[in-house]
Amino acid sequence: NWKMNKSYAEALELTNHLITSDYNNEVQLIIVPPALYVADIVNTTDGTNMEVGVQNCSQFDSGAYTGELSAKMIFSVGATHVIIGHSERRQYFNENNKDLALKVDQLLRWDLTPIYCCGEMLNERENNVHFDVVKTQIEEGLFHLTENQVMKCVIAYEPVWAIGTGKTASPDQAQEMHKYIRSLLQGKYGLTVANSVSILYGGSCNPANAKELFSNPDVDGGLIGGASLIAKDFIAIANSF
Ligand code: PEP
Repeated sequence: NWKMNKSYAEALELTNHLITSDYNNEVQLIIVPPALYVADIVNTTDGTNMEVGVQNCSQFDSGAYTGELSAKMIFSVGATHVIIGHSERRQYFNENNKDLALKVDQLLRWDLTPIYCCGEMLNERENNVHFDVVKTQIEEGLFHLTENQVMKCVIAYEPVWAIGTGKTASPDQAQEMHKYIRSLLQGKYGLTVANSVSILYGGSCNPANAKELFSNPDVDGGLIGGASLIAKDFIAIANSF
């Protein structure tokens, strides 16, 4: 997740650096640049096993929604994944679980993969309500879906206190929450579905801590912010699986 970083030239340079790097082909790599660059980056990565995502989408079909991007548009340029409900969108753009559920519906209609973000704020963890917060986010954002639909989603657990702060959840904290999220999925959809949904960890993941985080049984991958802006760090993270 490159967030709002990089000029067009820098974005293409980073993409070229990534596609010519030596990385573990068994890891699915998705790069999520600013939306303005996505069509060109889809072309640049064509023929590689890197996929390209978008950082947000509209909950509406089309029409008079200035500044928005629809799922149909995103699909039409060849992106495959869309981050939904990143904590920065929840925090600064007031996105709530109800909006996010509609966004997920839009994406699934266009066969795009939602990467649905959840995670608690620092005070929520300190007040010991972090499980409740994540439960509500998952239930309200995803539990209207059918089994087949939820299996097409990816979930990213991103404790807000760990995003861009240099503070990482400990491997035990990550595993504890990932296991809990999987148990919520199991309770609603059964074990097979729960085991088929990828749950990513995000929050100050870097080459030094990735291996330990990813070695947890319920941590299936990472959502990488800051470290994804530096090709060698992103590749080192991918290679730590
Ligand atoms: C993110 O953007 O989702 C994220 C986890 O950022 P960072 O890796 O910089 O904490």
